[in-house]
Amino acid sequence: METIIAASKNKNKIAEIEAITSKFDMKVISRDEAGIPPFEIEEDGETFEENSYKKALEIMNASGKTTIADDSGLMVEHLGGAPGVYSARFAGVECNDEKNNEKLLTLMEGVPYKERRATFVSVITMVFPDGSHISARGECHGHIIDVPEGSNGFGYDPLFVPNGFQRTFAQLLPEEKNRISHRAKALQKLEKLLEERK
Ligand code: IMP
Repeated sequence: METIIAASKNKNKIAEIEAITSKFDMKVISRDEAGIPPFEIEEDGETFEENSYKKALEIMNASGKTTIADDSGLMVEHLGGAPGVYSARFAGVECNDEKNNEKLLTLMEGVPYKERRATFVSVITMVFPDGSHISARGECHGHIIDVPEGSNGFGYDPLFVPNGFQRTFAQLLPEEKNRISHRAKALQKLEKLLEERK
């Protein structure tokens, strides 16, 4: 079984990744478990693709092992695609999920429902020890509501109602979210790409 390293420290993300990679005789371990000394990776790309590749490449270079990285975020149509690649740090240096959500709600104040369309995006990249890589993008479309609802998940989940549902991501069960989410879709595409490499 091949051991691969997850660049993310987010346990939810790692669990979702593991569900797919285990089918390919791959065991996912965290950066800590791999004994990689902590270092910051600057996410200075202009696209999810650039950031996702950069994270996976830097960890692969540090470890010599296959590495998988996810870069994700929320794109709000009314805000010209913001917060986008800045989703994690939308409210500034001292931000957290709550402050990011507050900022989003303030910017969306008074905007009618039909103009509150938004898309969650995830790009997952796997970089192999020979320097080659595969990358897959998944999207989930929906709307931003005006009052947070639900306590599951993380990030902007309490504000995002996926199309076809009457509940936010934070009100869905993890298994419901994992069937339709941007990350699930990216992982499904990645699964196909891994099949092709076999
Ligand atoms: P990353 O860790 O650099 O990819 O940053 C992703 C950021 O986008 C997170 O901090 C969240 O704010 C947001 N985000 C990405 N995926 C999700 C999701 O599934 N639910 C809620 N927020 C998400």
